Amino acid sequence: MRNSLIIKLMGAFLLLIIVSALIISIPTMLTTKSAFDQYSNTNRQNWSTRLAGTLVDYYETNGSWDGIDTLLASTLSTRPNSKPGMFGKENDGMRHSMSMGMMGNDDQHVILADQNAVILFDSSGEHTGKYLPEEDRKKGITLLSGSNPIGTLIVSKDTIGKGTPAAAFLTSVNRSIVASVIVSLMIAIILGGVLFNQVTSPLRQLKKAADAVGTGNFKERVSIHSNDEFADVGRSFNQMAESLEKAEENRLHYMADIAHELRTPLTAIQGTIEAMQDKILPLDEEQLDNLHSQTILLNRLVNDLRLLSLAETGHLKLDLKYINPGELTRQTLESMKLLAGQKSITIKVDIQDGLPECKLDSDRYAQIINNLLSNAIRYTPEKGTITVKLSSSTGNLELSIIDTGSGIPPEDLPFVFDRFYRADRSRSRASGGAGLGLAIVKHLVEAHGGRISVISPVEDTGYGTRFDIQLPVHN
Ligand code: ATP
Ligand code: MG
Repeated sequence: MRNSLIIKLMGAFLLLIIVSALIISIPTMLTTKSAFDQYSNTNRQNWSTRLAGTLVDYYETNGSWDGIDTLLASTLSTRPNSKPGMFGKENDGMRHSMSMGMMGNDDQHVILADQNAVILFDSSGEHTGKYLPEEDRKKGITLLSGSNPIGTLIVSKDTIGKGTPAAAFLTSVNRSIVASVIVSLMIAIILGGVLFNQVTSPLRQLKKAADAVGTGNFKERVSIHSNDEFADVGRSFNQMAESLEKAEENRLHYMADIAHELRTPLTAIQGTIEAMQDKILPLDEEQLDNLHSQTILLNRLVNDLRLLSLAETGHLKLDLKYINPGELTRQTLESMKLLAGQKSITIKVDIQDGLPECKLDSDRYAQIINNLLSNAIRYTPEKGTITVKLSSSTGNLELSIIDTGSGIPPEDLPFVFDRFYRADRSRSRASGGAGLGLAIVKHLVEAHGGRISVISPVEDTGYGTRFDIQLPVHN
């Protein structure tokens, strides 16, 4: 059987109740017995002193012990049936004195011996007529008439026998203690069952929800009704389920976006080839160039996706080396000048003198500049200006790329670093891009331990876009 939490809790709870019940009931039983013994000892002593006096009176009145055995037997054992006058008037009075104070002393063992130590009466009936040994006589009360010893009285306690009132009293006390232990155990089981069922109910709900999430139902949530630790766990679980739901949605969108972006160049390639096969398009160099540029586009897209997935899964390896950032920036910009020239865009370069060597991955750094600059060129109209500033301050290399282009609408600004995000959705990949460039830039900057931010429109001009990057000099 599964060792469920409710069984463990119930087990611990019952163990606690049983131990507490034993701790309370055993000393109570022992104390009751010892108090009861003490009470009967005192009672017996008082009674035996009184009985000794009465016996001496009997002896003195009768001048001998004759008839004492019958009187004692009747007093001690047949009290309810004995009739007044049975033993003479005086002896009836004595019988009354003897029985006084005997309540609760029915377990007495009474022995009376005469002056010669011959047992005249034994309440057990075993030793009557026998000789009372010296050591037993010492335990008893010596009966004196004047100064003459006339006998010995021994009143001792019988072991509490079955069926005696003393035994019945102790048994009833013990029974009520055991009964209260059983009743409290039963109440504890019922209350514990209800309580622990309530306590473990959120756990069961959580397990049900976790099972559902485990099988792919990311919409499952737990309802929270309390304000305890279970509620905290429930809230954390709901947060986790929400993140998983978002991640799953993201993944599905990502796959749909990839399929969409790959389809555009592939359809173009397929269409061109089929048109050439059907002789609609000539199989000439122009068409081959067209096909070639489509495959370049496709290749770039696949490379971008690969780079992005490496960066997102934390598997992007940087080849960090100390390099001169000014020189590397100039070299990279050189290759972009041709593209800018086609739109008569001026690239202004403002690189601070004496920049420190920085620990960078030169290929990735060049890719950052390329992506930002190709965006700036793409979104800046003809005869515009792109300014590239490079400086250093407090351990950081600061790169800014500012254009005089269309700017980014404020509602799009928070999302431009998301993958596949394009502010102008109507642009095709041929005229715009897949929306991966800035996502890659952000990952590359962060992989270098840096930060990137965007401002649009640029404060100074009121139009255009400005990207600011900070990279730590020492990684
Ligand atoms: P890709 O870079 O994958 O070829 P892309 O250029 O469209 O495609 P990103 O570089 O990520 O993608 O840019 C995302 C979007 O941000 C662009 O589609 C564009 O709408 C906007 N954007 C980026 N840079 C600029 C800029 N300098 N001026 C105006 N809008 C920009
Ligand atoms: Mg881009």
